[in-house]
Amino acid sequence: MTETVVIVGGGQAGAQAAVSLRQEGFDGRVVLIGDEAVLPYQRPPLSKTYLAGELARERLFVKPAAFYEKVNIEHMLGETVCAIDSSEQVVSLDSGQTLHYDHLVLATGGRVRPLPYPGADHPQVNYLRTLADVEAMQDKFTEGTRLVVIGGGYIGLETAAVAVKHGLKVTLLVARPTPLGRVTSPEVGKFFEAVHREAGVTLCCDTEVVAIEDDGGDGKVAAVVTNSGYRVLADMVVAGIGLLPNVELAQSAGIACDNGITVDEYSRTSVDNIYAAGDCANHPNPIYQRRMRLESVQNAVDQGKVVAATICGKDKPYAQVPWFWSDQYDLKLQTAGVNSGYDQKVVRGDPESRSFAVFYLLEGRLLAVDAINRPAEFVVARNIIGKGLSVSVERLQDDSIPAKTLAELPGSTMLSSASVQAAS
Ligand SMILES: Cc1cc2nc3c(=O)[nH]c(=O)nc-3n(C[C@H](O)[C@H](O)[C@H](O)COP(=O)(O)OP(=O)(O)OC[C@H]3O[C@@H](n4cnc5c(N)ncnc54)[C@H](O)[C@@H]3O)c2cc1C
Repeated sequence: MTETVVIVGGGQAGAQAAVSLRQEGFDGRVVLIGDEAVLPYQRPPLSKTYLAGELARERLFVKPAAFYEKVNIEHMLGETVCAIDSSEQVVSLDSGQTLHYDHLVLATGGRVRPLPYPGADHPQVNYLRTLADVEAMQDKFTEGTRLVVIGGGYIGLETAAVAVKHGLKVTLLVARPTPLGRVTSPEVGKFFEAVHREAGVTLCCDTEVVAIEDDGGDGKVAAVVTNSGYRVLADMVVAGIGLLPNVELAQSAGIACDNGITVDEYSRTSVDNIYAAGDCANHPNPIYQRRMRLESVQNAVDQGKVVAATICGKDKPYAQVPWFWSDQYDLKLQTAGVNSGYDQKVVRGDPESRSFAVFYLLEGRLLAVDAINRPAEFVVARNIIGKGLSVSVERLQDDSIPAKTLAELPGSTMLSSASVQAAS
C-alpha cells in the first residue's frame, strides 16, 4: 500500500519537508496543502530586496512549479485545512474535501499579531507577512509618501530602511527603549537606532501607540496617536509587532501546544503520526537545554528536514544552533545563537566603523553573537556554540586575532552537558 504524507502549510517548512521526503527516498504520495494561492516562497526578501523592487517575483519561490511536478509532489494551493480527525487519520478542507493521511505534517507557520488599538482597522494600515501584503502596498512605496512604521523589530527596521531609501518620509515608532529590544542588547539596538536616524528616519523610542484615527474622514490619511499625545499623519502605516503561531488546528485536534505546537527532537507531536515544523513548532534545543519556538528560515528548513527523516525512519534529532540575519542599508546583521540570560558582553571591533561583533556569554560560555558586517565572526561563533567550545574573552575582543582562529583556543574543550545545563 502506498503511504500518503499530507503537509499542511505551503511555507518554507512545508516545502522543505516535501522536498526532503523525496531526498530521503520516500516514494509514496506527498500532498502539500497551502491556503495562500501561490507556490511556497521565501519571506525574507519581502521586507528587503523584493520590497525595494530589486528582486524579480519568480526569484522568491522556493522551487519552480516544474520541480514539484518532476518529483511528484502534489500541491493544493488556496486550500485551507480546517479539521484533523486523528483517529481516522483524515483531514478536512474548507472546500469540503477530505484526505486520508498516514503521516501528517503541520507546517502552519504564524500570522501577524494585529494592532490592539482602537482604529487599527483603518484602510491605510498594512502588515507585512505575505507576498499579497507586499503587493498591496507597493503602489504607495513612492517618494513623498508619509509612512509610519509601528514596531522596532527586524521587519519594522527593514521596512523603514527600504522606504527611506525610496524617498518616503518615514517615522518609526518603537515601544521599547531601543529598537530590536526583544532580540538583542541595548548596544546593538542603539547602533541601529543611530544608523536609521542618520539615514533620515524619524525614530521615536519608548513610544506606545494608543489609537489610530482617520484624518480627513475619507480613509486616505491615518493619524497615529501616541502615548505622549502626538498625532503622526500617515498615507500608509506598516505594523510589525510580532507573530502569533498558527496552533488552533492542532489544538482542536487535541495536540499538545504551549507557545507553539509541542514537538520532541524528532519533530513528533503528542499525537501519533503527526509532526510539526517551522514557526508553529516549539522544540527542545539540546544546546541550550530548553524548549524554544523560533521564527527563522534556518529553523523552518532544518525542522522540515528532521520531519522528513523521521517519517522515513532515519531518526536525525534536531540539534542546531539557531541563526538569523537582517539586511538594512549597507549592513548585514547575522545572529548565531540565542542571547537570553547572558551575563557578559564582549565587543569586537568599533561600531563607528560599521563592522563589529558583540559576543554574549553566560558564566564564560558563548551563548550568541550579533555580527554586523562580520561574516567570519558569525561563522566561528556558530561553530563554537554548536560544539560547546570554551572561549577566551581576551581573544574575542582582540580584533587583531583573525576571527577564524577564535575556535582554536589552546586547550579548547567541550563543555560537559552538566555544565551547560547548570549555566542555562
Ligand atoms: C517580511 C519577513 C522577513 C523575514 N526575514 C527573515 C530573515 O531575514 N531571516 C530569517 O531567518 N527569517 C526571516 N523571516 C522569518 C521566516 O521567513 C519564517 O521564519 C519562515 O518563513 C517560517 O516558515 P514556516 O513555513 O514555518 O511558516 P510560514 O512561512 O508562515 O508558512 C506557513 C504557511 O501555512 C499556511 N497555513 C496555515 N494554516 C493553514 C491551514 N490550516 N491550511 C492551509 N494552509 C495553512 C500559512 O498561510 C502559510 O502560508 C522573515 C519573515 C517575514 C514575514
